[in-house]
Amino acid sequence: MKKLIRGLLDFQRHTLPSYRATFARLAKGQTPDCLFISCSDSRVVPNLLVSTDPGDLFTVRNVGNLVPTAVLNGQPTADRSEAAAIEFSLGFLPIEDVVVCGHSSCGAMKAILAGGVVNGSPNLEKWLAHGTPSLKALKENTQVGVGLPDADRLSQLNVLEQLEHLKTYPIVQERLAAGTLRLHGWWFDIGAAQVHAYRSDLGRFVPIDETEGDRLLTELSDATEEQSGLRAVQ
Ligand SMILES: [Zn+2]
Repeated sequence: MKKLIRGLLDFQRHTLPSYRATFARLAKGQTPDCLFISCSDSRVVPNLLVSTDPGDLFTVRNVGNLVPTAVLNGQPTADRSEAAAIEFSLGFLPIEDVVVCGHSSCGAMKAILAGGVVNGSPNLEKWLAHGTPSLKALKENTQVGVGLPDADRLSQLNVLEQLEHLKTYPIVQERLAAGTLRLHGWWFDIGAAQVHAYRSDLGRFVPIDETEGDRLLTELSDATEEQSGLRAVQ
């Protein structure tokens, strides 16, 4: 806790002056355009990885970056807190993109791979069940995470599984059908401090380096132009 107090004082002394105007603006409300779902793991720090400011990311973090599926009427099969965050952010904030971000050396994935939690943690055990469908993909998929340890392969496949779970929410289905939402699968390699993105055209994750970053930026610009073109026609 001492680290936190010292860090807070350091923030107030050194960093806050350059953020005063940002916080003054944000006091009136938030307008993030990205919902970022990642693991609670202390080594995954979304705002640091993508150099975002306060107000930029609407964030959900949980053990294993899991998204419980919704049943037909939109009710979640488990965590209402996450379902509420999905509904709120997509329904009331200008969210255009959802990122589900897994990571290497994920304890949740290791537990799922080992067949469950063994030391009497009933809530953890139930929660991790939302990641177990990914085990099936571990056996069947021969493209994702080739060469990685099984837990890391499972972590990448789990990102794709959770993106499918997201699509069970009516609000996600509506926004996807309207072309106003994009879903992205990311994976953070902790040791290399490198974020990878899933490429559906290649069927695997690739590092977002300078080349891939430029390609993604061009793809996003083209999509924006296409959308404004569509709006003009309508
Ligand atoms: Zn994790």
